[in-house]
Amino acid sequence: GNEHIRKPDWLKIKLNTNENYVDLKKMMREKGLHTVCEEARCPNIHECWGERRTATFMILGAVCTRACRFCAVKTGLPNELDLAEPERVADSVALMNLKHAVITMVARDDQRDGGAGVMAETIRAIRRKNPFTTVEVLPSDLAGDYDSLKTLMDAKPDILNHNIETVRRMTKRVRARATYDRSLEFLRRAKEMQPDIPTKSSLMVGLGETWEEIIETMDDLRANNVDIMTIGQYLQPTKKHIAVQKYYTPQEFGELRKIAMTKGFSHCEAGPLVRSSYHADEQVNAAARE
Ligand code: SF4
Ligand code: SF4
Repeated sequence: GNEHIRKPDWLKIKLNTNENYVDLKKMMREKGLHTVCEEARCPNIHECWGERRTATFMILGAVCTRACRFCAVKTGLPNELDLAEPERVADSVALMNLKHAVITMVARDDQRDGGAGVMAETIRAIRRKNPFTTVEVLPSDLAGDYDSLKTLMDAKPDILNHNIETVRRMTKRVRARATYDRSLEFLRRAKEMQPDIPTKSSLMVGLGETWEEIIETMDDLRANNVDIMTIGQYLQPTKKHIAVQKYYTPQEFGELRKIAMTKGFSHCEAGPLVRSSYHADEQVNAAARE
């Protein structure tokens, strides 16, 4: 593999720790909550938690029933559903004084509704305690169960985000159990159920896809009425994960963003450190301005 291609300088970032950040981490432990920001050691954490007042919570446990080859989340048999979790997330959103909360989940293929009920309840709990916080959800494909998707859309998130992750050809190698077409259908149906709620999807690049395949993915997302796209550099979480094939330059990301905007997305973030939830607060505003 290409495990040893050198990481370019624009990806070498030092995390500085400030007191506020340490307090928040402690609170997360006390409440038994997990954030992607911490667990994925996201380089944007200070900007997001501090200046932008946004964070990404991972609900329904820290163990996933799937094992995607790019993802650092542990695979195994998850715990029982924790029905008090929605309230604890809502309390944390209040304590962190978040403007925008992103709620993601592990894939709960062990649950009949894929965990959609708890995610919907989390939206409602956040709304009750934080009426001014916008809420973005990032569910799994809920195993293609559209009653479960409806449960979620009925709770009216501000953004429905579901990641396509990679181009069509690479999907089998990169994602576990999910398919490219099922993710597109999931996004299309979400839009049909709630046409006013913006839909969003993220693509990781650097897994071995071609430039043309990236453009094709943009076209496929637009053909399924996806409004917002994010494109970021794939980084290998551990040696056991799929290797990085290419580091795109900031210029290439700029070019991809330009192309995406000509395809009719209302908003596109593209850059080496762009993550699904990066600058998500701006996207809500962009969607609201339409
Ligand atoms: Fe958290 Fe997403 Fe911000 Fe990273 S980009 S710190 S995961 S909210
Ligand atoms: Fe990770 Fe999501 Fe795949 Fe589970 S379904 S392994 S959380 S990317």
